[in-house]
Amino acid sequence: MYNEINLDKIDLRQEPPLEEPARQYYFMAECRQYTKRFFEENGRLPSASVHTFGCQMNARDSEKLIGILEKIGYEMTEDEHAELVLYNTCTVRDNANQKVYGRLGFLNTIKKKNPHMKIALCGCMMQELSVVEKLQKSYRFVDLVFGTHNIYKFAELLASSLESDRMIIDIWKETDKIVEELPADRKFFFKSGVNIMYGCNNFCSYCIVPYVRGRERSRKPEDILQEIRRLVQDGVVEVMLLGQNVNSYGKNLEHPISFAELLQEVEKIEGLERIRFMTSHPKDLSDELIEVMKNSEKICRHMHLPLQSGSSRLLKIMNRRYTKEQYLALVEKLRNAIPDISLTTDIIVGFPGETEEDFRETLDVVRKVRYDSAFTFIYSKRTGTPAAVMENQVPEDVVKERFDTLLQKVQEISKRTSSRFEGQTMPVLVEQVNEQDSRLLTGRLSNNLLVHFPGTENLIGKIIDVKLEESKGFYYMGSYK
Ligand code: SAM
Ligand code: SF4
Repeated sequence: MYNEINLDKIDLRQEPPLEEPARQYYFMAECRQYTKRFFEENGRLPSASVHTFGCQMNARDSEKLIGILEKIGYEMTEDEHAELVLYNTCTVRDNANQKVYGRLGFLNTIKKKNPHMKIALCGCMMQELSVVEKLQKSYRFVDLVFGTHNIYKFAELLASSLESDRMIIDIWKETDKIVEELPADRKFFFKSGVNIMYGCNNFCSYCIVPYVRGRERSRKPEDILQEIRRLVQDGVVEVMLLGQNVNSYGKNLEHPISFAELLQEVEKIEGLERIRFMTSHPKDLSDELIEVMKNSEKICRHMHLPLQSGSSRLLKIMNRRYTKEQYLALVEKLRNAIPDISLTTDIIVGFPGETEEDFRETLDVVRKVRYDSAFTFIYSKRTGTPAAVMENQVPEDVVKERFDTLLQKVQEISKRTSSRFEGQTMPVLVEQVNEQDSRLLTGRLSNNLLVHFPGTENLIGKIIDVKLEESKGFYYMGSYK
């Protein structure tokens, strides 16, 4: 197995192999020469700090980047006063970009005191030409820039950067390649994200993801199952299957298989206790999937079902390919099949041309569905998407007012909805010591709600029964005997 390769046994006098992932292990070995030298000269290992912006996909990518850095011999730290700082960026909304530029200014002041420091940037934001141009012009102190398609090449790019003072930029427009079997460092020993597909083909008119993550590519089911089996052997009890639209998984494989079929295979893995997935596009949510969820003992009672807007007129312009009525019918079908299911969603306010009437339709869906929680976003214009050039961009003050109204409604409803399990005893996967109060543990219910309860650290990673004593709106206080 590649993961167990001893880097010290790789002969660096040979040419690097051409095939992957062997090639990357060669470059990890080369970078390891640097960390060893650093240790000899400084009496400590070089430190590296990886910061993740954005979604679960990026979080999983960062686990892979950290896995590579640890294999090379870096000491990981949160502190940005490090020998290597890597930002894994997001560009779904413009404020994510602005945050990165702001933080780069701060990194520059650190680098002035430590000129050997390396600053690297990767992820979705780097796939935008205008960003790379800006970096080349105004942020010359950045050492390494790479995108979403060649993340697996990190060791090779780092090896080049360690030997050079130039800014190295390697951005690919597209790829059909999926490189498996690189190291990964899991944030939690008992749960892990698992990519089942990359990219997106949906082209919702406001969204930049298909442009920066490329076309949809599904991993082969046998590779996914093998990865999960290994994770389970390594102590994982919960997996989150990741894709921009998991419901269209498998359609472009040589031997097509549906997402529901994949789930049934995952369910068979002994030792695995919980299965989650994200994200489900309503247009592709099949009856087959609902049936599989209903009969499953492992699939969690939670569905994240992005609405975006409650107005059928706007949904059409957004290219979402469902109507308000179809969405509501889907929710009814889900609730009939799985009555205790928790539903969460994403909603955008202020899409171009949104009228008061459109907005009222959104509020109407929120009222009817009674979400357990909802992520609400102010529409952000993304250059290159069809919506960016649409007329009737909604004035800022109107958007702000609607956003506040929506947020209030969502919070009021989700407070009531999520308290419906009060008094019940339910299985909880214990995740960590509570961040505010170390006498408490924090765990997650199957329906994704959090519960805090007194307990000891040895329970972390276990699934135990906890009584949900009191609902606090978005979480519970509980007790465990
Ligand atoms: N693929 C997933 C889906 O279809 O729901 C989610 C992808 S996206 C990273 C997460 C959320 O960001 C979307 O559901 C949408 O609500 C929001 N989003 C995407 N583009 C946006 C934009 N231009 N402005 C505001 N919010 C946006
Ligand atoms: Fe973006 Fe739509 Fe693809 Fe989700 S489905 S990533 S919102 S284009």
